[in-house]
Amino acid sequence: MVKPRDKKLNILGLGYSEGTNGQTIEAPVVVVRNFTELEQKSRLIPGKIVVYNFHFESYGKQAIYRHSGASRAAKFGAIAAMIRSLTPFSIDSPHTGMQSYDVNVTRIPAISITTEDADLFQRFADRNEEIIVRIYSENHNEKEKGISRNTVSDAHGEKYPNEIVLVSGHLDSWDVGQGALDDGAGAFISWRALSVIKKLGLRPKRTLRSILWTGEEFGLIGVYDYVKKHRNELNNYVVAMESDIGTFTPRGITYSGNNTTSQCTLWEILQLMSPINATTLTISDEGSDIQAFYENGVSISSLDTANDKYFYFHHTQGDTMTVENSDDLDKCQALWTSVSYALAMLDDRLPR
Ligand SMILES: [Zn+2]
Repeated sequence: MVKPRDKKLNILGLGYSEGTNGQTIEAPVVVVRNFTELEQKSRLIPGKIVVYNFHFESYGKQAIYRHSGASRAAKFGAIAAMIRSLTPFSIDSPHTGMQSYDVNVTRIPAISITTEDADLFQRFADRNEEIIVRIYSENHNEKEKGISRNTVSDAHGEKYPNEIVLVSGHLDSWDVGQGALDDGAGAFISWRALSVIKKLGLRPKRTLRSILWTGEEFGLIGVYDYVKKHRNELNNYVVAMESDIGTFTPRGITYSGNNTTSQCTLWEILQLMSPINATTLTISDEGSDIQAFYENGVSISSLDTANDKYFYFHHTQGDTMTVENSDDLDKCQALWTSVSYALAMLDDRLPR
């Protein structure tokens, strides 16, 4: 920021964003709280930098600003968009994440700013002070695509080898931080579920498959490729499980199906988790990678933990091993392994 105050802004480029083409751009800022205000101020926007300072209620509700904010601002002639980080709490840390451009708009730089700076912009704007920002960004998209792979391992089913209980997390992460929370821990417990079962010398009746997805963060690339290649066998999937919303103190699991027998069976399985107080079954069809299965009729289930602080760290430099508590991780591991193994051992397959 060069006006009304000289201030270095902590920023991160957003996924797929273009940069400033070797140039430095400098322009006045228009601050908006939402898309309605963006439209109301449309006449002011040509040649300006739009700052989105939305009120954060939840990640799901406000992610649209990160995802489409740049395109919507570009339609009115903005030359860059700066978007408030998607978090309820901040110590001046910007959060990155995916954004995408609409087909017929100018691809303007899309930049994440901290909640503190978004609030600062708002205060200046409310006092009608002119704000000028200077941006330089080397963001660009490589023309050539790389190859990356899902990591798949099986504990082969003894009795119903074609029926699959899937546990999964994703291996890729953002460049900032270590990706321990998103989604190193989820990938880890999904791989280790099989490893624990093997160590205990157990043989599941159904095949227990662990998949560490690739390319989740930039558009669920790995899972959609997998679902496409395995489309004809999706009927064989008993449930697609995923841990991608933190491995804090476990509460239980979520489940998408509305079949009463399935719900009661899962509830009974979860009662085995009472020693670690993780017996809660929540009916929900939310998930990231597993949505691709849900869209194809497979029931889905997520690890549910006391994750109120998940979005404090999500997609920031702060996503490191320090966030992971080893005791909680052990409990999540126990729950994840036990539930998936129990589902692989049922006499009757869990109905859809
Ligand atoms: Zn994730």
